[in-house]
Amino acid sequence: GVVAAVPVAAVLRGRDAFANDLPKLSEDDPQAQALSYKHDAAEAAAAGEGQNCANCQLYTGGDAEWGPCSIFAGKAVSANGWCATWVQRAG
Ligand code: SF4
Repeated sequence: GVVAAVPVAAVLRGRDAFANDLPKLSEDDPQAQALSYKHDAAEAAAAGEGQNCANCQLYTGGDAEWGPCSIFAGKAVSANGWCATWVQRAG
């Protein structure tokens, strides 16, 4: 059928485009403040050595500089960011 014929690559490109369209999370967002989110992990006093969104289990932006995080639905967080919910990425 038509749907089955859509190449996987096109679907992946579509997902990337969606991620790139997400508005960036503001540090002033109430939830961001509640979780001490910072765009720069170096500014997050509670962040452990080497911890950032890029190596957090909840970051789904891959290698992108900004990407989705399941904690902040509908917003993009910085790969260099950090919040109190940080969880070590498995593997
Ligand atoms: Fe970054 Fe992880 Fe916090 Fe999301 S949960 S903002 S990816 S540290």
